Amino acid sequence: MERIANEKVLYERHAGGDIRVCVVYPNMYRLGMANLGFQAVYHIFESERRVAADRAFLPDPDEREAIRAGSAKLVSFERGDPLTDFDIVAFSISFETDYLNVLTFLRMAGIPLRRAEREGRNYPLIIAGGSAVFLNPEPIADFIDMFLIGEGEEMVPEFAAAYEESCGRTPDGRARLEDLARVEGAYVPEYFTPVYDDAGRITQVDYRGALDSRVNRRLIKDLDRFTTASLILTQESVFGDMYLVEASRGCQWGCRFCAAGFMYRPIRYRSPEKLIAEARHGLSERSVIGLVGAEMASVPGVAEVATAVADEGGRLSPSSLKADCISPALATALARNGNRSVTVAPEAGSERMRKVINKNLTEIEILSAAQMLVAGGVENLKLYFMIGLPEEHDEDVIEIAHLTGKILERAREQKKHVGRVTVSLNPFVPKPWTPFQWDPMEDTQSIKHKVALLRAELGRMSGGSIELDAESPREAYFQTLVSRGDRRVGSILERLSAAGIEDPGAIWHELRTIKSEVARGEGDALPDPDFFVTRHYGNNEILPWDFIDHHIHKWFLLSERKKAHYEHQTKPCDVTRCTVCGAC
Ligand code: SF4
Repeated sequence: MERIANEKVLYERHAGGDIRVCVVYPNMYRLGMANLGFQAVYHIFESERRVAADRAFLPDPDEREAIRAGSAKLVSFERGDPLTDFDIVAFSISFETDYLNVLTFLRMAGIPLRRAEREGRNYPLIIAGGSAVFLNPEPIADFIDMFLIGEGEEMVPEFAAAYEESCGRTPDGRARLEDLARVEGAYVPEYFTPVYDDAGRITQVDYRGALDSRVNRRLIKDLDRFTTASLILTQESVFGDMYLVEASRGCQWGCRFCAAGFMYRPIRYRSPEKLIAEARHGLSERSVIGLVGAEMASVPGVAEVATAVADEGGRLSPSSLKADCISPALATALARNGNRSVTVAPEAGSERMRKVINKNLTEIEILSAAQMLVAGGVENLKLYFMIGLPEEHDEDVIEIAHLTGKILERAREQKKHVGRVTVSLNPFVPKPWTPFQWDPMEDTQSIKHKVALLRAELGRMSGGSIELDAESPREAYFQTLVSRGDRRVGSILERLSAAGIEDPGAIWHELRTIKSEVARGEGDALPDPDFFVTRHYGNNEILPWDFIDHHIHKWFLLSERKKAHYEHQTKPCDVTRCTVCGAC
């Protein structure tokens, strides 16, 4: 109740129709309310005249304890209703690591986890969408009745209309599912049965639906037709001091590790006019406008947007900037009105590795961007790097330290007292629909060795003036498991959720236990987690997510991977004339 009282809703609400939908963010409130995708899908459902929408979140840890102990119940956020009272429970899932939370949430809501256990009983229809789902929904395929694959702006209203029509036609859940499967982008996992060989690889997928067995992921053509910006503000959100505006979907650069650069193809931008209008609207609520998207320096008109925001006394906070696209005008506008920290993502330390990943970015460009930002008034630089990338050697890791040292030196030439330089280091996690989808995550011991190497080199060079913030390879291991896993990973998630395991350290421990059990031939037929994490997938293998049609040729992804091995780069997208990957 207190949370509702502290929210400010920025749109007109309507009374709501007969279809009761609870939109669930499978993580805590402060994270869910910072997620534009969740806010957008909730608003789409709420705007439907047929629907009465509510929200729900994974309870905070103390509430979870109370629910597990039986002294509290999981209820919806606004009306306080049990989840079993809804017609539809709709998960909005942006991060695959939240798949485990989906199971925890269902368990706490008193809803049987497995689709088969709900069959013929009066439970809500469980659906799921969101960016994690349209990369690879398989790890939770046994728990969800239907997925909506792709962007929701057009698909969700079509789904709501189909649901209403089907309810008028039949009370039978199975027949209703058949009706809903006709919505373009709908994926009903029950209709698909993977077949495995003795080695555990998928050899075929049997389809017993009535339609095409390829699921067409949905995209909207023109972003300007829809507003994707903060709709409900609360200080409790992790971005509580910001008004968020989505600037683009996708990315023109085609970095070979990056899912956003492939799954949202072709790149689409909001127009500068629309961005300025949304930013001005946001400035009446917050002084900081968070610009959201994969890469913000190449958004057309971004310097004008930053200047317009600065002229009105606010400041623009872009999610990430590609160094060579930062113009002096953008650097100056960003530094006005107190923007003291900017994030730049060289991703790799050596020129060679930046070619492997197709970063299209030279050291000279990185250094001149740092110079420009510091000259413009930015004090703190955060530098994103990855570790454990395909083709990477120890020397490439040491180059991260050398590049960071040069950046610091260049910054000090501009200004004697530079603030903080932070190296944010993330282990490479192979993602579906990228050229590196076939590659494994590097062994955790090897990652630890590389982090230690880098830490020592940074310490030696900078005397402690550069901070290193390294993500745990154990967390990356779990992320890879749910990113690259097939349906059988669902049993692992089920075991973790049954034991109430949520902490990354405890998850890692349990996964090691499962691995030992599998090696001894014990346990309850769980798969070996390493099969999905540290194994090279074969070029001709059927991948768990192959049934989704992202309109990208597989041969294109393979050719990009080959180019990575030869350290050849590919030019950025030119959507006006290129047709090479199949998306345009
Ligand atoms: S067809 Fe060309 S321009 Fe279009 S998304 Fe693919 S690579 Fe980019």
